[in-house]
Amino acid sequence: MADSKPTLKICSKGHQFYKSSDCPTCPKCEQDRRPESGFLLQLSAPARRALEHNGITTLEKLSECTEQAILQLHGMGPASLPKLRAALKSEGLSFKK
Ligand SMILES: [Zn+2]
Repeated sequence: MADSKPTLKICSKGHQFYKSSDCPTCPKCEQDRRPESGFLLQLSAPARRALEHNGITTLEKLSECTEQAILQLHGMGPASLPKLRAALKSEGLSFKK
């Protein structure tokens, strides 16, 4: 019964990839997603969850918030703010004034 041979799969965007498991995650799509949400990876887990729970998964969304609003999120600490500021700046963005 064991079928360890990788099988060719095609994701909804048309990328072809081989996976031996049933995991449908497309590696190409995973990679494409990363730059946009890369700033989340620099944060501590609680801070990251705080943003994700509030739908703030992109720098564009983040730039619509004030620093004060972000600090008030449960799990967000002051240590995360410099990282967020730097991430915004790298995209030419900033916190809402
Ligand atoms: Zn894909």
